[in-house]
Amino acid sequence: MNALEKHLANLIRAQGPLSLSHFMAEALGHPQYGYYTSQTPFGRKGDFITAPEISQMFGEMIGLWQANNWLNLGSPAKIHLAELGPGRGTLMQDALRAMKIVPGLLDAVELHLVEISPKLRLEQQEKLKDLKQPHKIQPQWHDQVSDLLQATQDAPLLLIANEFFDALPIRQFEKGPDGWHERLVGLEGDDNLSLCLAPIPCDISLIPEALHSADPGSIAEICPVGENIVAELSRHIIRHGGVALLIDYGHDRYGSGDTLQAMKDHKFCPILDHVGKADLTAHVNFQALKETAHKNGAKTYGPAHQGDFLNAVGIGARTEALLKVVQDEQKEDIISAYKRLTEAEQMGRLFKAMALSHPNLTGIIGFGA
Ligand code: SAH
Repeated sequence: MNALEKHLANLIRAQGPLSLSHFMAEALGHPQYGYYTSQTPFGRKGDFITAPEISQMFGEMIGLWQANNWLNLGSPAKIHLAELGPGRGTLMQDALRAMKIVPGLLDAVELHLVEISPKLRLEQQEKLKDLKQPHKIQPQWHDQVSDLLQATQDAPLLLIANEFFDALPIRQFEKGPDGWHERLVGLEGDDNLSLCLAPIPCDISLIPEALHSADPGSIAEICPVGENIVAELSRHIIRHGGVALLIDYGHDRYGSGDTLQAMKDHKFCPILDHVGKADLTAHVNFQALKETAHKNGAKTYGPAHQGDFLNAVGIGARTEALLKVVQDEQKEDIISAYKRLTEAEQMGRLFKAMALSHPNLTGIIGFGA
């Protein structure tokens, strides 16, 4: 057993089996042994590669999209630009470079990053250090979304979250003859972590209505942390103005099934192997997030397929422009990055983009008519 597994086993001995959300929060975020706090997850050498690490065009498109929203907001003299889970800081670096083309925008920006990992904060600091000239952009880091929202009440908010919601803890329930039982992490023997079911069914109000009549054996997933963030964010945008863009892999309607997965060295592995050493993610339920946004007064756009969104924002033209200025040997990489980000069989369809805004704001692009 590694140190984190021992810690979890002790917790289970003391308190009984843990919900998957408790397990996930510890496996990813434990201050000393958690995956995001102790490993270097990204890039070709890390456990997985994300869209901003595939090509600079991804961050550039998002930067231009948010630049357009600044104009839609009437070019306010101060704007909070924020990213949730900025990873290596690549997306924000590319976004800010693209945003430079809009006169006055970078002088208005106050930059905020929400990040739990001290290691990644250092990487972000390094990546974004050149921004200080000539615009005096100095990132402020926050531990949690609620801290960010507290600090950004004096101007509208432009927020970006790429592959952040898929890392948030989920709960799972399995349908039995007498109701839905929560899936838990318990102990088998003295020190083997193993999955088990809560003996008593949960309150039915926890299960999305669309799944109430699912077949026995079905799995329902909920992400209360993600829904709570969207609720807070929606209320914030209603009060202070702004636009948020969420990009993640996931589905656009309710469905049953176990989507929790672990990944290490670019390969899937069982979720209880390599605890704290493997990434854990689950599909984002965009339908649930959309309903939460509406309940809290925000207007939503999408979810659109990532490929459609990027094409609508202009990644095709950007690809062509780059092809004109690079050496021949780089051309193939650019074309393959474009395809990887946009084509349906690659990231183009599984990944989705959804935006939230104040209901009175117009001019948001990328989501069709
Ligand atoms: N957006 C980046 C990284 C995605 S990985 C990219 O696309 O490359 C998820 C990121 O969210 C990491 O930076 C991770 O450290 C951070 N993170 C995960 N859970 C978090 C939480 N609960 N609070 C704050 N940051 C979190």
